[in-house]
Amino acid sequence: MDNGVRFALLDTKKALDLCDVYNDLLPLKGKIRKAYNRLKNTSKTGDLLRYLEKFESEKHRDADEFQVFHKYNLVTFEEMGPIIRREFSDEILNISKISELILGKSYNNYEIINTFQCSEQGGMRRSHKTNTLVIVSDHTKPLYDDRWDEEGVLHYTGMGKSGAMDIDFAQNRTVKESGVNSTEMHLFEVFDSSTNTKYVYRGIIELYAQPYQDNQIGEDGNLRKAWIFPLLPRHRFTVNSIRLKKIGDEKDKTAARMSDEVINKYAKSRSNQPPSKRIARTVIVNRDPIVKEFVKRRANGRCDLCDEDAPFKVKEKIPYLEVHHIIQLADDGPDTIYNAVALCPNCHRKVHYALETQDRVKMLRKLDKYLNNDNDKENKESFIKLFALGEN
Ligand SMILES: [Zn+2]
Ligand SMILES: [Zn+2]
Repeated sequence: MDNGVRFALLDTKKALDLCDVYNDLLPLKGKIRKAYNRLKNTSKTGDLLRYLEKFESEKHRDADEFQVFHKYNLVTFEEMGPIIRREFSDEILNISKISELILGKSYNNYEIINTFQCSEQGGMRRSHKTNTLVIVSDHTKPLYDDRWDEEGVLHYTGMGKSGAMDIDFAQNRTVKESGVNSTEMHLFEVFDSSTNTKYVYRGIIELYAQPYQDNQIGEDGNLRKAWIFPLLPRHRFTVNSIRLKKIGDEKDKTAARMSDEVINKYAKSRSNQPPSKRIARTVIVNRDPIVKEFVKRRANGRCDLCDEDAPFKVKEKIPYLEVHHIIQLADDGPDTIYNAVALCPNCHRKVHYALETQDRVKMLRKLDKYLNNDNDKENKESFIKLFALGEN
């Protein structure tokens, strides 16, 4: 972090702390916290100055807030710019540059704002200052998603929440005319919704074919015509298949929570467009065949969860059971005999789709029993640690 930013951050932190001490500062707390969060995520003094510019107009100076800040010897954002230009002049040329963004790397929202000088939210963010349009494809939106095809084209839904979409409205027009207005479009993808959303940078994206219309349900729940923009990223990339599977699982859960009425409406509104297809990178986890075989033999023909006999035998002699890792290998669970159980196919599906606490406890008890039979002290200790089991 540059010294100029550190200076501003310290002052803002002081203001934030004083909000809890003085009543006349308290109403400003939300605003100050927002500024503080932004500064925490800013590293270059040049970026900070660009942010402070909007506070430097004269009209801000009449605000009551200004007086309150002075009362407690705090530097207002209106005054901060000149101080930083004077005291940290060697840092003012440090700015985040679009050309320095790395393909495939995750950025937070503040980094995007600082780099593109665009607004803080929205799927399409125009910046006149950098002559760019930031396009965000957010896969965590539950009800519909931007579609991809196997050519790597993103079919992006335009702006407008409800009612028939207007192709000349706001940024729809920017995209439509991107061939002639020379606005550079940059794509980011969002895969998980968390408090500090990560945006994966995909580089420059271009209008690939004529925009077309498609049926979609708007935010008001009514069917409408939406404009779809076929966009092609300049650089090819593949997505991790585990990431895509997680998104799919989340959407299944959302759909399962919807009422019959809503499901009916959405199901019947689905257009004839082909399903979304993406080229993915598959990560194959090699399970240890020795562990797998040991766990099956240990179960001695019975399911480690329901204790029933295996439902059938393979080649008339080997009981059919499936090996399940309690902490899954995809979640970095260890491939060891004390993280794995042998289950009948029914129990196996159940623990994946409807795991109940009592089932988990039962499987852990079974493993504990095996450990005691083996009288294996070292593995018992790591078992307790792995499953965060307390002393009993
Ligand atoms: Zn079973
Ligand atoms: Zn499993």
